[in-house]
Amino acid sequence: MSRDKAASTPVAPGGTIGILGGGQLGRMLAQAASALGFRTHIYSDEPDAPAFAVAAAHTLAHYDDAHALERFAAACDVVTFEFENVPAATAEILAGRKPIYPGARALAITQDRLDEKRFVAALGLKTAPFAAVASPNDAEAALAHTGAPAILKTRRLGYDGKGQMKVADAAQAGAAFRGFKDAPSILEGFVDFAFEASVVAARGRDGSFAAYDPPENLHGDHILRRSIVPSRLSAAQCAEAKEMAKKIADALDYVGVLAVELFVAKDGGLLVNEIAPRVHNSGHWTQDACLVSQFEQHIRAVAGWPLGNPARHSDAVMENLIGEDVSDWLRLASSGGALHLYGKKTVRPGRKMGHITRLKPRASA
Ligand code: AMP
Repeated sequence: MSRDKAASTPVAPGGTIGILGGGQLGRMLAQAASALGFRTHIYSDEPDAPAFAVAAAHTLAHYDDAHALERFAAACDVVTFEFENVPAATAEILAGRKPIYPGARALAITQDRLDEKRFVAALGLKTAPFAAVASPNDAEAALAHTGAPAILKTRRLGYDGKGQMKVADAAQAGAAFRGFKDAPSILEGFVDFAFEASVVAARGRDGSFAAYDPPENLHGDHILRRSIVPSRLSAAQCAEAKEMAKKIADALDYVGVLAVELFVAKDGGLLVNEIAPRVHNSGHWTQDACLVSQFEQHIRAVAGWPLGNPARHSDAVMENLIGEDVSDWLRLASSGGALHLYGKKTVRPGRKMGHITRLKPRASA
């Protein structure tokens, strides 16, 4: 089937979904795909990728291995990914052969914090004040714009707090920039938020849209610890958050699940922190509290299927199991929550090893 015909035809059960990346997100995508009758083919450069164990096929190769990428594309009906830092050249090779969702534009914008903030601001959505820092000399003017304190972040390749430094003045900002080996960076005003929340939402190939209820997210050491639904957001704020996600998804002509991380200001305003063009840790509670999880929703979207109902039937608290937390698996297994373990062989401090979701009957809208 030609690439264009494939993009306009739903993938039938029995078809193969290719997933770039083999971590826990790829693993849970593969599990959800399998429940809909699909095969999955995982592509990862990690020999022990957690997703390999649950997929019909896998390719162990580097992301710049053009031959391996071509063979992988040939084996799949459609290709998606579980991480945003897919090299542009990799996406290009795949996109030339098979439909790839989300598309190259969503990847390019969300790979760069500065481009992403500019894109969000151009849509009329609020963000922290921000300024580009391309050299230590930019620090003073940037800080004058953002106000102090501020956070210097590398434009590319940061996650879970890596490539980020809180700074109090221009001298610290300059030193942080040099600490990042002069990598092009963005300075953001430090938001004294009331709490953090996120919207996990999906857009189908036909432009249909479905958003889950926004969870409240608690972080420790820059890593997500807990997501709680319902959050402290009012019904009006929930509706506004979902509308923001829709605006972003429409503007990117997005296909698949995306997450928009939000700061909830003390005056009730919603600021966009960042966009993740993929399923997201703050959406894991949907596996147990919704009829259709974020993972199934993503597979439905990329396969050209109708989106499922995102309504939650239960209230939920999702807790990440980080590092040694997982050694408590036997007690956790008897604690009444829904336990999800990622099958990672090595425990490391800060490594996401699993999560547990506790449900309560739904109390509120
Ligand atoms: P990020 O990698 O940008 O999602 O940042 C990770 C975490 O750092 C966020 O979830 C916040 O807890 C904190 N953070 C990031 N940027 C800011 C900011 N501009 N103001 C306050 N806290 C921030």
